[in-house]
Amino acid sequence: MNIAVGGFFHESNTFNPIVTTEKDFVVFEKGAIYSQGGSYLLAKGIVDYFKDLQEYRLLPLNFARAVPNGEIALDYYLQLKARFFEILAAEDSIDAFVLALHGSMRVKKIGSAESDLLKSIREKYPTVPIICGLDMHATITKTMLENAQGLTGFKTAPHLDAWETGRQAARMADIILREKAELHMAAVQIPALIAGEKAETDLSPMRELMELTVALEAEPDVCAASIFLGFPWADSAENGVNCVVVCQSNLKKAEAYAQHLADAFKAKLDKFSFSGLALQPREAILQALQDTCRPVFISDSGDNPTAGSTGDNTSLIHLLNTLPEMAKSSKRILMAGIFDPQACEFCKGHLGEDITLQVGGVFDQTYCKPETLNGRSLRLVEGFGPFRADLILFASTHFELIITSKHIGFTSVEMFKALQIDYLNLDIIVVKLGYLTEDFKAISAKHYLASARAAPMKCCAGSTIAIKKVYCACKC
Ligand SMILES: [Zn+2]
Repeated sequence: MNIAVGGFFHESNTFNPIVTTEKDFVVFEKGAIYSQGGSYLLAKGIVDYFKDLQEYRLLPLNFARAVPNGEIALDYYLQLKARFFEILAAEDSIDAFVLALHGSMRVKKIGSAESDLLKSIREKYPTVPIICGLDMHATITKTMLENAQGLTGFKTAPHLDAWETGRQAARMADIILREKAELHMAAVQIPALIAGEKAETDLSPMRELMELTVALEAEPDVCAASIFLGFPWADSAENGVNCVVVCQSNLKKAEAYAQHLADAFKAKLDKFSFSGLALQPREAILQALQDTCRPVFISDSGDNPTAGSTGDNTSLIHLLNTLPEMAKSSKRILMAGIFDPQACEFCKGHLGEDITLQVGGVFDQTYCKPETLNGRSLRLVEGFGPFRADLILFASTHFELIITSKHIGFTSVEMFKALQIDYLNLDIIVVKLGYLTEDFKAISAKHYLASARAAPMKCCAGSTIAIKKVYCACKC
């Protein structure tokens, strides 16, 4: 039996003016999944499930992923999609599609990429089952539910179970093909959006809700039970929380369990809160300057590129640069970082020289201005990580700043190691991030969440989101 595996993975922030294009993606296709799957664990989980089962032949298609950012350019998405079907066209028959998708990827003029892709597959392959592994922040649409036999999502945030989710999706296809069972899927939407910073799964109430999904999956006939949170930084009509259950041979049970999950979620709606102490940016910096432990982390939560923001908001950089308390402090402070290709290029040409540099405020012109810094470029790292970004470590008067040539996340100490930063001996590390990643939690002595105002927060003020209540990271 032939299993087609492929996937596009992107979380698209509709409040970010950047248009995501080919240069932002890491793309590979066909057999490259066997060597490059480590950078796409959701897809690797699918492949690993099938590769030792002799009944199956895997047909890897194309795989594309990028750091969350603005919506995808239409022509580039159509190019990816055309290649997906071009590789498929060489095959005589397909018995199932098992796809590794995000669920909140949006394309200019199209909207939901997943809805578009699944609808197109269904048109060309009307009877072939489609199963999808998705991110927890997937926006589940009516079109996705109509065209897929099974959907399942991550159960952890920070996301640590992409590989396992891939295997679970693969298992559903296996149930259809080898056990000849029919799958039934039910979904119940809740008109709410929860900010990621309030929905970590090792903390209440998400911990208990995710335990409930695991308990449901232990029931006979239940193939997958998922809570999809939607994506608060996208202005899309179908955005919201969705409880989705897939059962074997029993629609009534799927419906009852999905409703049970939704009822449990609704009962806890007023329990979602920040995991760390949330302060206004100025207060967060002043508080951290007083702390005696280290390193103290401050999340610049309003401009988190891994939630698709521009990554070039200068609000916190401006405070670090201008607060009188900073001039009096001898603390060692790192700002990680800012996305500014032009500033990065300028620094590359003036390594080791004393310069005046303008950073940020290029893409986010609504909530900040470019900031002028005096200092020196200490180090350059070229081609860092899977997205091949150039990194500059810039020493400003009161703090050090990482400048990136590409729109990447600040999620791991690998970047600090690459730039030879003695990060354990820093007093304060400001990161453009929401909740801390496992890497940062492991070294953080203390954590403040700065409720910074930046472009993505526009949802509260002027959005047309048809949601009854929005729980977001800002204080408006
Ligand atoms: Zn996510």
